Amino acid sequence: MKITNKHNMPSMLQRAIEKEYTYRDKRYSITSLLDPDRVIMLKRRHNDEIEQDVTDLIFALLGTKTHFELENIDLLPNEYVEDHLEYTFENGYTLSGIIDHYDDEYLDDYKTCKAFTLIFKSDYDKWKKQLQMGAYLAYKKDGKWRKKGRIIAILKDWNKLKAQTEYNYPKFACEVINFDLGKPEEVEKMILERFDRVIELESMKDKDLPLCTPEERYNTGDKYAVKKKNNKRASKIHDTLEEAQKHLDNLEKDYPNIYEIVKREGENRKCKEYCSVCKFCDFYKEIEERKE
Ligand code: SF4
Repeated sequence: MKITNKHNMPSMLQRAIEKEYTYRDKRYSITSLLDPDRVIMLKRRHNDEIEQDVTDLIFALLGTKTHFELENIDLLPNEYVEDHLEYTFENGYTLSGIIDHYDDEYLDDYKTCKAFTLIFKSDYDKWKKQLQMGAYLAYKKDGKWRKKGRIIAILKDWNKLKAQTEYNYPKFACEVINFDLGKPEEVEKMILERFDRVIELESMKDKDLPLCTPEERYNTGDKYAVKKKNNKRASKIHDTLEEAQKHLDNLEKDYPNIYEIVKREGENRKCKEYCSVCKFCDFYKEIEERKE
């Protein structure tokens, strides 16, 4: 991946961010396995062509700094930090991962994230799988299964006033989310199923890769505008066609044939703003071409 500096930020920021991950055949990191199917493959295949700007990666730098501070602690017996682990399965595929922290009881991962991630629990499923795969690698290393996983979430936008006034807002700038990691056999099954899927994906051309789901694309959902036929502006925008139809039926009673319903397609916010491989994705290219 190339790091660009389009906005002329001080060069040390660029140098601090530049860190290469080398892709190897049949080796997949835990984080890559958690990506949507299309993203996993496009990232690997186009790694040398992907560009990201320093300004888009500043928060990643903040995360790295946090990790650095937490790695440099005095370790207790049986405590490990920043452990690089790998395990190769009988099918020849290797799972790799860096475990932030673990001891005999817990396996932990540090996240610098926004408060809404905790409020909406939006990444919890992904976080659990990440911890499970990490626990599996640690288990393969020392034969000990850690059933307890924790995400230590550091909330970079935490607001004290909101914490005092909003009931579902995180109470502290650092929150611990506990996960039950189940049994090693269940986790092994999950990993092997993911690798089976990866093997299928590897044989597909870019254009045939399964499209990311609306949730994975952060799709905002289609809306239905009720508007006067010659106007651009809507009188009202509805979330469902049924609601819009009801509205139109009411208007028709007093103003027949004046109004209409127009569907407004939802935006794919991830594709547009956060997907590093969008340039190589035919779905995204098509949307952009349609706009032009
Ligand atoms: S551009 Fe959208 S659909 Fe394409 S890979 Fe990225 S997130 Fe998925």
